[in-house]
Amino acid sequence: MSAESGPALPPRARVVVVGGGVIGASVAYHLAHAGWRDVVLLERDRLTSGTTWHAAGLMVAFGSTSETSTAMRLYTRDLYARLEAETGLSTGFKPVGFIEIATDVDRLEEYRRVSAFNRLCGVDVHEISAAEVANLFPMARTDDVLAGFYVAEDGRANPVDVTMSLAKGARQQGVTILEGVPATGVLQRGGTVTGVRTPYGDIEAEFVVNCAGMWARQLGEQAGVSIPLQAAEHYYLITEPIPGVDPEWPVLEDPASYGYFREETGGLMLGMFEPVCAPWRVEGIPEDFSFGQLPPDWDRMGPFLEKTMARIPVSADVGIRTFFCGPESFTADLQPVVGEAPELRHYFVAAGLNSIGILTGGGLGRAIAHWIIDGRPDIDVTGMNIDRLHAYQANPEYRRTRTVESLGMVYQCHYPGRSMQTARGAKVSALHDRLASAGAYFKDVSGWEGPDWYAPPGVEPVVEALSWGRQNWFPYWAAEHRAAREGVILMDMSFMAKFLVQGRDAGPFLDHLSANHVDGDPGTITYTQWLNEGGTLEADLTVTKLADDRFWVVASDTAHRHAETWMRRHLGERHAFVTDVTSGYTQVNVQGPRSRELLASVTSADVSNEAFPFRAAREIDIGFARALCIRITYLGELGYELYVPTEQAAHVYDRLVAAGQPLGLRHAGLKALSSLRMEKGYRDYGHDIDNTDTVLQAGLGFAVALDKPGGFVGRDAVLAEKAAGPLTRRLVQVLVRDPEPLMFHAEVLRRDGRPVGYVRAASYGFTLGGAMGLAMVDAGQPLDQAFLDAGDWEVEIADRRYPVTASLRPLYDPQMLRVKA
Ligand SMILES: Cc1cc2nc3c(=O)[nH]c(=O)nc-3n(C[C@H](O)[C@H](O)[C@H](O)COP(=O)(O)OP(=O)(O)OC[C@H]3O[C@@H](n4cnc5c(N)ncnc54)[C@H](O)[C@@H]3O)c2cc1C
Repeated sequence: MSAESGPALPPRARVVVVGGGVIGASVAYHLAHAGWRDVVLLERDRLTSGTTWHAAGLMVAFGSTSETSTAMRLYTRDLYARLEAETGLSTGFKPVGFIEIATDVDRLEEYRRVSAFNRLCGVDVHEISAAEVANLFPMARTDDVLAGFYVAEDGRANPVDVTMSLAKGARQQGVTILEGVPATGVLQRGGTVTGVRTPYGDIEAEFVVNCAGMWARQLGEQAGVSIPLQAAEHYYLITEPIPGVDPEWPVLEDPASYGYFREETGGLMLGMFEPVCAPWRVEGIPEDFSFGQLPPDWDRMGPFLEKTMARIPVSADVGIRTFFCGPESFTADLQPVVGEAPELRHYFVAAGLNSIGILTGGGLGRAIAHWIIDGRPDIDVTGMNIDRLHAYQANPEYRRTRTVESLGMVYQCHYPGRSMQTARGAKVSALHDRLASAGAYFKDVSGWEGPDWYAPPGVEPVVEALSWGRQNWFPYWAAEHRAAREGVILMDMSFMAKFLVQGRDAGPFLDHLSANHVDGDPGTITYTQWLNEGGTLEADLTVTKLADDRFWVVASDTAHRHAETWMRRHLGERHAFVTDVTSGYTQVNVQGPRSRELLASVTSADVSNEAFPFRAAREIDIGFARALCIRITYLGELGYELYVPTEQAAHVYDRLVAAGQPLGLRHAGLKALSSLRMEKGYRDYGHDIDNTDTVLQAGLGFAVALDKPGGFVGRDAVLAEKAAGPLTRRLVQVLVRDPEPLMFHAEVLRRDGRPVGYVRAASYGFTLGGAMGLAMVDAGQPLDQAFLDAGDWEVEIADRRYPVTASLRPLYDPQMLRVKA
């Protein structure tokens, strides 16, 4: 390809970063600081010319219940505060403070819960009164304020200055930054990226990092990499100067009024996250859009703006100097798109920042640099990894629809369990209509319509009012839970990821990946983890050996692409072939002490305990259909998973439902699955265990076959951890003794008054009689049951503490008597 005349390019670099916004600059800075100085950053136009130049610059550590996000925020704040000393360029960071106000009881509850968690993570947040809010931000109306949540160390920064300072820091370490050089494509060979194409020639590279902001999707598409994100209009206005406005006032945020407020050149900046938003340029972002603004849509924004301005009455009486609308990228779940693309090795992405790119940019750059250099991340990335997303989410119709909701979610009250409402119905199971007739309330499960709970006959399956307390469906959930413990339930789990792994080497291959021994007798299911060489968890799944050369691998919906990519990347030259058969099989689980009776009544197969023991897997007949039947449970009872060819699913379902009538068969949803598995202490990857945990810390040592011939990926790390002595960090099951309070996630756990961890995932144990959770506890000393028994354990829910029982062994059926019955 002939190159246009332009700047001289280095022929090769170890890493090419594409995009010179805050994220690209931060990635380059952190790579160089970690010693990888052979880095080139390409910017299509000039640094910051995309979204970064017009950001409002809020620097807020408060507000997230993600440990990863909070750590990134704190690191970023600290970095921007100290960067000038290194580079001589100020970031404009001013720790003027930040206040979030609550004007209704639900938000008060939310912020109290968040505060407790944020304090655990190192954010010094204090609840303050309305009078104190008025004192700190005298122009705010505070008559309806129930409380404020104040962080003195938070504040604001200048996004352009931040980026320039990061870029200078990167240059000082040897990074080459080229402005006016667009990446027009990438070079690849054998599934690995090998460089970048520009109009001025190619640059060979070992790694490419796509930090192209709202252009990232288009750039990814050229390389066959799906990056589902979408730009949306994003607004703030700046008033004329207002006498009395003090630049030292904190940033004030009032999500219920859709607004945030801070001083700006003697006046006020009023920024907004309106509840119903407008995507911008779904068909594609113009390539020449630089330092651009969008025409504001007053008609659409008027009603929201009125509410925002009412918080600062004086803002209605002064002139408006700037009414700004600019585009920012949003994603389907408001989490960024980060990590190595499943489609292309060594092609990394850091984009889709959902309007917190400045305040998390430092931490994200650090994380990506670490990930590239070490080959794996050092923070929990399960919630933001690019491989959680699916190609269909990049469809124009999907982006156009979902983005209307995404931006608005930022300022909604984050009620537990609320499912996104837009772009629904994208994936339905073969049983969908039947489940709907049975009263299912569906939620978005990685795009699938998954039954969450079932309304009883005659009751509409609707959430009457979102709340932090018991909602209208609480009793239905309780009934499903009890039915699973006492009778028999049916669950549609079609969203689970299913793979056939076939070939002469399929057994040794999967055994090499799995910490457990999965290549034993045919007709056996094995629960296992996949580890990386560092010994931390990559996947938590089951492998069923159907025949010597045929295996059935099942992972959760969120791990779908991660598990698939992990297999494909480890295949090498082996005679083994991975086929995604998720769509081809409907998964119906029948579980509960009467599930054997139910199954026996629809099949001619012998399903007695002797003929069909726990962990057995067989093909059985059901009516006119054949199904793979596996005796296994994720809720702690006798039970079976049925994998039915999708075209026979309705037939099997009808047979089961008919035969289940006399047994009192009940449909059960994901709420029940969650409460049942929580009582049994079963883990859920991406929720209570993640890529930062070792298999031993996760309490899964029982599933590790350390001495199996040939070993497995991560074995040395497990051995080293064992040799290092007793564990001091372990996953602990907790049960709140008071049956009243509810837990959801991020509740702080205390031992003898001292915080030692937080509840990563929670539910309600209807059998054990209280809220339950799994918490990773850092004890700082050997952590065993004696340590648990010797302490007084409490959990902090909103602003109250409740005694809990803490246990390493499952509190429900620790001997597995019910499972093996
Ligand atoms: C109104 C508004 C207010 C905001 N307020 C805040 C705030 O207060 N706090 C906060 O944290 N965040 C805020 N944000 C969000 C923040 O601005 C973004 O998250 C952040 O700037 C994203 O940075 P980025 O580097 O990913 O994208 P960008 O800044 O868009 O950078 C991407 C760069 O890639 C370049 N590029 C694109 N394609 C190519 C190519 N093919 N080759 C080479 N270069 C290419 C572009 O020119 C661009 O410079 C706000 C956003 C808006 C719109």
